[in-house]
Amino acid sequence: MEIKAVRGVKDILPGEVEKWQFVERVAREVFERYGYAEIKIPIFEHTSLFARSIGETTDIVEKEMYSFEDQGGEQLTLRPEATAGICRAYVEHKLHQQPGFVKFYCIGPMFRYERPQAGRFRQFYQIDVEAVGEASPVVDAEVLTMLMTYLRTLGLQKLELRLNSLGDAACRPRYREELKAYIRRHLNQLCAECQRRFERNPLRVLDCKKEGCRSVMREAPQTADFLCEPCRQHFETVLHLLAGVGMTWVLDPKLVRGLDYYTRTTFEVIAEGLGAQNSVTGGGRYDGLIEEIGGPPTPGIGFAIGFERLVAVLEYQGLTIPEPRPHVFVAPLGASALRDAFILVERLRDAGLRAEVGYDEKSLRSQLRRANKLGAAFTVMLGERELIAGKVAVKAMQGGEQEEVPLDEVVGYLQKKALTASSERLEGDDPTSKA
Ligand SMILES: [Zn+2]
Ligand SMILES: [Zn+2]
Repeated sequence: MEIKAVRGVKDILPGEVEKWQFVERVAREVFERYGYAEIKIPIFEHTSLFARSIGETTDIVEKEMYSFEDQGGEQLTLRPEATAGICRAYVEHKLHQQPGFVKFYCIGPMFRYERPQAGRFRQFYQIDVEAVGEASPVVDAEVLTMLMTYLRTLGLQKLELRLNSLGDAACRPRYREELKAYIRRHLNQLCAECQRRFERNPLRVLDCKKEGCRSVMREAPQTADFLCEPCRQHFETVLHLLAGVGMTWVLDPKLVRGLDYYTRTTFEVIAEGLGAQNSVTGGGRYDGLIEEIGGPPTPGIGFAIGFERLVAVLEYQGLTIPEPRPHVFVAPLGASALRDAFILVERLRDAGLRAEVGYDEKSLRSQLRRANKLGAAFTVMLGERELIAGKVAVKAMQGGEQEEVPLDEVVGYLQKKALTASSERLEGDDPTSKA
């Protein structure tokens, strides 16, 4: 019987993986310019870490975690997101004792037992960014600027940044009470889930995607009207800085994150082409989270971007990522040339060129066919006669011109050709331009 992949997971094959690599490569380039360093955290953690950090009343913790007991009787969970693990590492390695604050990014798979549907996977990939240890609004503005720079560097267009401020421990309780009172007045119009958890977690009701709940909550009190003076100033500074670098945004008073340790700036980026669930990324400040998991009071801010969605928007917006092609194909003509061809292809690769060699094609014609199929720019033909003369024939696959080149000069010759081709490509088309 054939064994297939588990439901809700998928393989990323060559042809698709180049898009993923592109997304990841640009992330590293942009984030490192902003002083972010990569952190690699384990794929599983103690279940209690997620229960405390994500919140026990959330869908993730209530229904979606891959939890298990290991052979030693430990309760473990495959990470459903990266923030919790990063904050755990921050506390465990006492990074708060280091001067300055810490900027991390983390790229890798996350796991959630979600209902399988289009674009949702049980193993999905995220790019996660966290700046821990600094409360200044400059960090908020920097994180947002970096995020938008990243998305634009990928070539994405028609992006909308949505912003809100949630207040803090000083002003949120009053808002919470007002919100609860409002919800109580409309309780019978809300879904069962919202009715069940609004007492413990009223902000989650604002997040509910069900149309009934959404229409009730349209008239609900808004966080912006309850901000204390320091929160108001913080948010104003963020907006002032963003405006200074030409950023635009939409204020969205319904943009909340359900848990109490989320504070102040919260945000989301919407991209055209994703349908109803059109958010590519979301994030915000979590000045109370580190304390929640047993660390000292430490401010933090971050966001997570889903790879699958990002790739879907790239495709929808018609962005193409060039597939890697060999520059040279080496075609041995006859069995006696095989060894020399094998040596030559290795020399080409050592010189930094992408090169392929003929394996067991019978004729020159079938070798040229393979070179074409691979998209090689040049084919080097090596026959017994050529080897005796110390020369090879180099054929430009586009145009078809053929040149005789001394065997010991062919590597340099092709290197020069490759350089010219890549500089022409740089001047010519942008790899992220519309197809
Ligand atoms: Zn609801
Ligand atoms: Zn406040």
